[in-house]
Amino acid sequence: MQKKDIDKFISALKTAYPEAGCSLDFNTPFQLVTAVALSAQCTDERVNKVTPKLFERCKTIEDFANIDISELEEIIRSCGFYKNKAKNIKLSAKQVLENFNGEVPSKMDDLTTLAGIGRKSANVIRLEVFNLATGVAVDTHVKRISNLIGLSSEKDPLKIEQDLIKFFPKKYLKDINHLLIWHGRNCCVARKPHCTTCPVKQFCKNALTKSL
Ligand code: SF4
Repeated sequence: MQKKDIDKFISALKTAYPEAGCSLDFNTPFQLVTAVALSAQCTDERVNKVTPKLFERCKTIEDFANIDISELEEIIRSCGFYKNKAKNIKLSAKQVLENFNGEVPSKMDDLTTLAGIGRKSANVIRLEVFNLATGVAVDTHVKRISNLIGLSSEKDPLKIEQDLIKFFPKKYLKDINHLLIWHGRNCCVARKPHCTTCPVKQFCKNALTKSL
């Protein structure tokens, strides 16, 4: 894909996925910190089944910091890796209270000091809570699609993110975050992507190679 194709590429994906957006349910910044932490190695759908009970039990960041670890583990158990996730949720709540006056920080460098929050999660939080689209959350879908389309030949998420930031104009970074994930869930799925019906196959290196 070339830079001149970017507008058409975005437009085709927007037409295919008009509802593309964050699929984790949350009402407060710290609820998203929690939901993002729970979503590691777990589907957003599963997380959204677990968080209503969790958010009902923990209404404030103090509640997250003070909940008994075994009670928290039990609530989030079905999300997998629940012991580690429970530990991180409690610790990140304490960190927000002690280091950031109880407010989830917006800076990348601050967010990544929170337990269980890496660059990918921090990008999601910055975008969805603070409307700051300065990076791309490179998850398994974004990584795969970027390689297949030819947007990046890198394997390391950080390098892929840098390639995407360099290639796409800043005004499209918010869209890119949502659209690539939705495309990965709905069409460019792992192992058997639906290339013949793909809305962006004309821009895809993989499709061109196969002469689709
Ligand atoms: S053409 Fe195939 S490999 Fe390329 S983006 Fe579409 S589904 Fe993915």
